Amino acid sequence: MNDLTLPDPGVEHVRDALGDAGVYKALLESTKAIPWKIDWASKRFAYIGPQIEALLGWPQGSWQTVEDWAARMHPEDRDRVVGYCVSQSQAGVDHEADYRAMTRDGHYVWIRDVVHVVRRPDGEVDSLVGFMFDISERKKAEEELLRLHRELEQLSMTDGLTGIANRRMFDLRLENEWGEARRSGNPLSLVILDIDRFKQYNDAHGHVAGDECLKRIAGVLRGLAQRARDVVARFGGEEFILLLPDADEDAAGRMAAACVDAIADLRIPHAGAGAGIGGFVTASLGVGTARPGPDAAARAFVAAVDQVLYAAKSGGRNRIEMLEQG
Ligand code: GH3
Ligand code: MG
Ligand code: MG
Repeated sequence: MNDLTLPDPGVEHVRDALGDAGVYKALLESTKAIPWKIDWASKRFAYIGPQIEALLGWPQGSWQTVEDWAARMHPEDRDRVVGYCVSQSQAGVDHEADYRAMTRDGHYVWIRDVVHVVRRPDGEVDSLVGFMFDISERKKAEEELLRLHRELEQLSMTDGLTGIANRRMFDLRLENEWGEARRSGNPLSLVILDIDRFKQYNDAHGHVAGDECLKRIAGVLRGLAQRARDVVARFGGEEFILLLPDADEDAAGRMAAACVDAIADLRIPHAGAGAGIGGFVTASLGVGTARPGPDAAARAFVAAVDQVLYAAKSGGRNRIEMLEQG
């Protein structure tokens, strides 16, 4: 005996009770997907499943024409979706579209509408039939994934401690601006800033205070370099770098002086021993301006500015050194 085989009389029995159309109707109206049919010539709904009311709140009878359908769509989705569906239908192509359907109480539900084009024997479009699926859960998951992805992207471009750009971001922006400076012939400046005797600061005040100091300095630097294309990045442990597109020697020098002043204004006590720090946290700065020619490398420019920073350190710290123009 094979128990899996349904005896034919059973099927006949159902068919007798409901009739073929009745079976289909019962099936269609008990699924979560909402069936519908639109007569193409009149653009009117020939049918829509009663489940539509549970999902969107609009009663079954209120779905009369395609205008009702379009009007109950999020305005940002409407032109795209209506235009797409009309052109696909005209071309006789089955299609699907995702959009936000408006509920009767003014909320939105993400819908996937899957559309089949029914043609007459002569090839003309007769009607459209389809199913609307509630895909809000899936959309929510997708949006959450997108948000996490953006957050990750953000995290990998920013420095975890200070929240400013990290080295990776700086490298990318430098590459970009270097090319731009080469094309435009405009100057590009860098300021590299290294906190003086920071090891001793940590030794004297502790690592937590050291972190706090880094955050405060990052904050004032970010406040200073405010032009749209300026980048303030954490270059290394207690080193920061400012990328200043379209800034010449004078502008870069002024920016460096403003950095020195802003750090002095913070008046962060530095109890550690060290020459030239006067009891407060200070920094040494290297500044350079480039007008890159066809063969110039950004990396060599950064190295050259780093060298003048080194000169500022060996010259006594708490000072600015400018790269000689060669
Ligand atoms: P110099 O004036 O020559 O720059 O002396 P320095 O002590 O600042 O330089 P050095 O390179 O010898 O030491 C850098 C110190 O910065 C050592 C390290 O512990 C500290 N540092 C680097 N990153 C961090 C950080 O994220 N938090 C804290 N608290 N300290 C850091
Ligand atoms: Mg250093
Ligand atoms: Mg240092």
